[in-house]
Amino acid sequence: MSRIFNFSAGPAVLPREVLQQAADEMLDWHGSGMSVMEMSHRGPEFIAIHRQAEADLRELLDVPANYKVLFMQGGGLGQNAIVPLNLLGRKPRPATIDFVHTGSWSGKSIKEARRYANVNVAASGEAGGFTGVPPQDTWKLTPDAAYLHVCTNETIDGVEFDFAPTVQGDVPLVADMSSHILSRRIDVAQYGVIFAGAQKNIGPAGLTLALVRDDLLDSALPICPGVFNWRAVADADSMLNTPPTYAIYIAGLVFAHLKKLGGVAEMERRNIEKARLLYAALDADDFYRNRVAPAYRSRMNVPFYLRDESLNDQFLAGAKARGLLQLKGHKSVGGMRASIYNAMPIEGVHALVDYLNEFAGR
Ligand code: PMP
Repeated sequence: MSRIFNFSAGPAVLPREVLQQAADEMLDWHGSGMSVMEMSHRGPEFIAIHRQAEADLRELLDVPANYKVLFMQGGGLGQNAIVPLNLLGRKPRPATIDFVHTGSWSGKSIKEARRYANVNVAASGEAGGFTGVPPQDTWKLTPDAAYLHVCTNETIDGVEFDFAPTVQGDVPLVADMSSHILSRRIDVAQYGVIFAGAQKNIGPAGLTLALVRDDLLDSALPICPGVFNWRAVADADSMLNTPPTYAIYIAGLVFAHLKKLGGVAEMERRNIEKARLLYAALDADDFYRNRVAPAYRSRMNVPFYLRDESLNDQFLAGAKARGLLQLKGHKSVGGMRASIYNAMPIEGVHALVDYLNEFAGR
């Protein structure tokens, strides 16, 4: 069996060991005579899987006791839609939501939020072509905003926050961490809400994670659908309706695997090393170009352009022939993108770097 190196932005590469374990357990999970896919979500087997996944995630991210871990569905865009529905009850209407616009995904969040509230774009990297995070001392925050929303890793633009924003007063900080959760150490306590689609660093598509501070569970608008109400989901231990059971099981295997490797600190060490290798190859001369200011270059998603874009197809064909797949950039920005999530082994980055050098004729 041969496995290629998959640089997809998501659904993305999963640890080989996890896939192997899932394969071994596919037909008969731990002597139950069933696949996890076939189990009742209310049966003792699945409840044990669910509990362990949550416990391991809490340990990996050092989640404080006053945060609920919610396993939901609907993806990152689902949370985009329901964050306002769950938080706007904090303030008399019309409320204002503050945003920092750092790229495509925060842009989508802004558009969605405009349906429900006044939106204040406190800072934007748009004029600069989304090549960094505007310095926090330039942000024009609203003192009584319902919350401040940031996307701490812009998957398309390759822009990553190198700091945790500070908020004023009791304004909760909401972070879309879809594409870099578990890749670096964070202090959960600095955020009111963290959400992430699973299909990058956590597991299969279909599972969406939300970490919500206790005191923010009761701020929903009356129109918030019950099934997307964080309080209702929390009170039902994420079993208000049928959860994405198999995706939770795989996520649990990923969490256990990360713990075995040394946790998030070890992932961060590896990710710094992988990103350093890749950006060094892109920066070696002007054959390739990454536009993001070095301090804000994402360790997870590395967009780049060939100086001569007429060579794009040839570049991708050569990459494919070497087993380096999914390097085409997002359709909205073109060029190339290499996503190097936790599960991308350093061997994959070495193989890509070798190819970058060879293609550039170095
Ligand atoms: N936010 C970010 C940062 C993302 O990268 C993505 C997906 N690429 C989304 C939100 C949307 O996630 P989903 O497709 O799970 O709705």
